[in-house]
Amino acid sequence: MKIAFIGLGNMGGGMAANLVKAGHDVRAFDLSEAALEHARDNGCTTFTAAREAVEGVEAVVSMLPNGKIVDAVYSADVIGVAPQSAILLDCSTIDVATAKKVAEAAKAAGYEMVDAPVSGGIAAANAGTLTFMVGGSDDGFARAEAILAKMGKAVIHAGGSGAGQAAKICNNMLLGIHMIGTCEAFAMAQKLGLDPQTFYDIASVSSGQCWSMTSYCPVPGAGPQSPADNDYKPGFAAALMLKDLTLAMEAAGTAGVDAEMGKRATELYQAWVDAGNGGVDFSGIIKTL
Ligand code: NAD
Repeated sequence: MKIAFIGLGNMGGGMAANLVKAGHDVRAFDLSEAALEHARDNGCTTFTAAREAVEGVEAVVSMLPNGKIVDAVYSADVIGVAPQSAILLDCSTIDVATAKKVAEAAKAAGYEMVDAPVSGGIAAANAGTLTFMVGGSDDGFARAEAILAKMGKAVIHAGGSGAGQAAKICNNMLLGIHMIGTCEAFAMAQKLGLDPQTFYDIASVSSGQCWSMTSYCPVPGAGPQSPADNDYKPGFAAALMLKDLTLAMEAAGTAGVDAEMGKRATELYQAWVDAGNGGVDFSGIIKTL
């Protein structure tokens, strides 16, 4: 397939490379020359404008920083420029309202579009082991699945337009909450005289068990290898966790949901990022507890 790929940063770079490996003809665009050079090294053909990259393609995939940019790129350079028969897939993490708005504009112009945000970080993007949560019609999902499967280990239909973004931010709100909870439990266990590994051995097979503990333990030397064992180098940077929590709080406001725990997790990450820790792995918040 001829596929345009817009946004070749930390995540998009590896994802585009996996589409090339799967035998697709990938036409890449990014504002950064360094990203374009990297994409060329990985077998992509690069272009100096998004509207050139999308000419004559069968699919457009984007992996961009935020909703404002996604809206601008699709409005100016994709909708009405790519062939109407092309399926449009936005894999960026953005707000639900913008995801729905852009998909509606695409639909009105005769396109099928899905939101397909991911779970998994840079390593999963490079390895092709991301999880995609997809919002869109049954037909859109079926067409998107074949492409997304080349970049991930799981592709799940979450529901209609915007449902992929809704699933992503609810999942990451829960992640933020249970990471802080895990940090509090380990910090308190230590104050009460428990050895961290001993507490891990108990809690990881008891009812407090969760992903933040057994896959990503925030204490160095306890549990599996994690960013805690590498001086909290990300991993998943605190600034990205704060971005997702902020999107979750926006969505909670729109939906009239009083997400008390999500709100508190957002406040704690906001304060920690404001103190200069945006580039630290999100599990490093244990240092403040
Ligand atoms: P990044 O900043 O590394 O990459 C974004 C790329 O988009 C950059 O190369 C930038 O030059 C390019 N870009 C910006 N504006 C553009 C435009 N108008 N036209 C073309 N290119 C443009 O970010 P990333 O870490 O790759 O994240 C991308 C998306 O994936 C974000 O929405 C993020 O929330 C989401 N995400 C990231 C991670 C992660 O661990 N990094 C995990 C899951 C989801």
